[in-house]
Amino acid sequence: MIPSDHSAGPGLSESHIADWRLRQVVGDTYQLSKVGGFLYLFGWAVIAWLGGSMAFAPRVTLAIFAGFLVLACLRLWMRPPPDGDRAANQRWLRQFALVLPLASALWSGVQAWILLDPRYDGETRMVSLIATIGYATVFANVYSTVRHFAVTGVCVLFVPMLVVLWSHPADRALAVAMSFYALYLAGALVRSYAEYSRRLRLDLALREQRDLYEHLSRTDALTGVFNRRHFTARLDQLAERAQQGGPSFCLLILDVDHFKQVNDRHGHVVGDACLKALADRLQRAFEPQSALLARLGGEEFGVLLEGREAAALAAGEALRHELVLRPLDCDGQRINVTVSIGLGSFDAVIHGDGDGLYRAVDLALYEAKGQGRNRVNALRPANA
Ligand code: GH3
Ligand code: MG
Ligand code: MG
Repeated sequence: MIPSDHSAGPGLSESHIADWRLRQVVGDTYQLSKVGGFLYLFGWAVIAWLGGSMAFAPRVTLAIFAGFLVLACLRLWMRPPPDGDRAANQRWLRQFALVLPLASALWSGVQAWILLDPRYDGETRMVSLIATIGYATVFANVYSTVRHFAVTGVCVLFVPMLVVLWSHPADRALAVAMSFYALYLAGALVRSYAEYSRRLRLDLALREQRDLYEHLSRTDALTGVFNRRHFTARLDQLAERAQQGGPSFCLLILDVDHFKQVNDRHGHVVGDACLKALADRLQRAFEPQSALLARLGGEEFGVLLEGREAAALAAGEALRHELVLRPLDCDGQRINVTVSIGLGSFDAVIHGDGDGLYRAVDLALYEAKGQGRNRVNALRPANA
């Protein structure tokens, strides 16, 4: 189907930006947390081996191992919704917010157990505290995508551990050190969230720049319809598709009759306004047929239409009559213009490619001018 977005603007609406941001956050959060669950599994394997818990509490050791494994797999399995729909993404974030802290909570319980159970030696206690610091640091620095995820994770990991340490006078020095580290984590969390937000803003600005450049590169500056470059590319594409058995299509080339006189009589500014008004008129005339409209240069426009030549001929004639009956509103002045139109449908055998059709239709337009202007000249007879 020929796109009818004659002059689709590049700007993103507020709601598009919000959707885009949500998709980014969901995608980044999943990517960042995909393998994180297995780190707890690894940590517990080291602690269980170091502390010898398989010897004095084999069932609990295995149950914790199974718990970490299930939670790690659950995280991996919770893929973000593929269609990127806003409600689905919000739902995913809500569900993930419930699953994500579960492994941290389990680790927090394990950490409290290690600190409180005298069967664990000093070395195991130390290694477990280092692991807790590591997990909390990851939360503060990596989960910058959603601030409350990071806050929840750090709190779940640190608060029970701090409570246990502060409640043991022998651990006072450790409690002080860990409390200072908690303050550092709060700062790191704020900074990493700000950095992530800045990165998103930069990504968005780049995207908007790219969209704007794409828009400008295919748009005619005066009228806002497509330019010749885009038109030629689409014509070649449609011709290639038609050659491979794709849908048939027609090309119309319109040229304003004696447009020089409009400029001479009313000035260039009014002439420009006339071209804009004509582009609007053409857009409205061909839009129902899902057309692609472009300004090919000067006062010449091209239209690509789906379907057969007879329908295109009827549309061309209707437009020509309408222009005769209804003058254009050009910068406050009502000016009557007529157009000559060359028209033809693509035939792979006769035209070969898009350029072949263009040359044939351009010749038909030239003949229309020669025959007295204000007429449509089709490559085939009207009953074709
Ligand atoms: P014909 O019926 O043979 O097409 O006559 P014409 O006067 O339309 O054709 P010609 O090619 O001699 O002149 C085209 C004119 O279109 C010349 C130029 O002044 C005018 N023109 C081309 N581009 C623009 C534009 O961007 N703005 C304005 N105002 N005029 C333009
Ligand atoms: Mg002309
Ligand atoms: Mg011309």
